[in-house]
Amino acid sequence: MKTILRIDWQVKDIVEGFIYNEFEGKGLYGLNGKLVIQPEYQRNYIYADGKKDVAVIDSLLKGYPLGLIYFNKNGDLYEVLDGQQRITSIGRFTTGRFPILDQNGMQQYFSALPKEEQNKILDTPLTIYICEGEESEIKQWFKTINIQEIPLNQQELYNAIYSGPFITKAKEVFSNSTNSNLQKWSAYISGNVLRQEYLEAALNWVSKGKIEEYMSKHRRDDNINELETYFNSVIDWVSNIFEDVDASMRVLNWGELYEKYHNNSYSSNDISRRVRELQGDYFVKNKKGIYEYVLSGENPEYRKNLDIRIFDEPMKKAKYKIQTEEAEKNNISNCPLCALGGSNKIWKLDEMDADHVTAWSKGGATDIDNCQMLCKTHNRAKGNK
Ligand SMILES: [Zn+2]
Repeated sequence: MKTILRIDWQVKDIVEGFIYNEFEGKGLYGLNGKLVIQPEYQRNYIYADGKKDVAVIDSLLKGYPLGLIYFNKNGDLYEVLDGQQRITSIGRFTTGRFPILDQNGMQQYFSALPKEEQNKILDTPLTIYICEGEESEIKQWFKTINIQEIPLNQQELYNAIYSGPFITKAKEVFSNSTNSNLQKWSAYISGNVLRQEYLEAALNWVSKGKIEEYMSKHRRDDNINELETYFNSVIDWVSNIFEDVDASMRVLNWGELYEKYHNNSYSSNDISRRVRELQGDYFVKNKKGIYEYVLSGENPEYRKNLDIRIFDEPMKKAKYKIQTEEAEKNNISNCPLCALGGSNKIWKLDEMDADHVTAWSKGGATDIDNCQMLCKTHNRAKGNK
């Protein structure tokens, strides 16, 4: 790989003919059409938050260095390897797409800045390394230099490594902030579409967690039929079963639940009513656990995922005191089950555990009236039933 350093370009050269695509969220071209700002393997523009983009402009106005920028030379064209977020921020500012705040806290767009401040930005010299090499070399190296800006997350890195027709098509659907299905999908998926988190979910579901293997295998495919069909099956399944949506649904792996339960038949009405009940149940601490619990037909194995509220220490102590005083008076054990067997052993507090007289699953509350202290042996025996 050949590398040369260029210090003769200024900001005004780079933003000449700058084109930004609002729909794709991408800075497209600079250097009068000769610079491709967001090549296929680059992620989308994510600085447009009124902070990171503004910080880039502030540092130019203060004369701070912008940091190294890397281009890849590809025939007559250049592609930005590292620096696209900074370049897109500058291009968007000089084309009037966002304001900065002046000393008086007033919003100022580029065109309203004093001429000398405009020139200060446009005349800033840049330090640019130009690389020329094989695609595989460049990508490998891109992985290494990706330290300047916000680091790539795992999925963005996979997109770079396995770039090709498959991922290009997949991004058109799953990384597209103008996709009209996003609203519906966002009920079941958390994260940022531009940071590839919807794509990641889609790939995770269809590949049963083996994203990298799947991307490598399908890299040269010219369609994404399987990926799309599977994703839609999962979304249709979950949205048909559950009438309501709530925030805890977004952290679940719906692909995994689909695999396990999609052959069962459910009454959407009954299951949705049960979910609402459990959502409103004070004793259910882990609301995320509700969905698999109801899909499994309320299998006790999944009850532990609900993290049912347990008796706290003050309640246990209070109940222990009542039971022990009563037992001493009657000369019987303070464990009611030991007492039934004729024992008069008085257990210490730390030798006993709290038990729901009526189990939570049968409607028992976690309050002092439904609490009894049992010796550890009896508590374990009861818990196993
Ligand atoms: Zn006992």
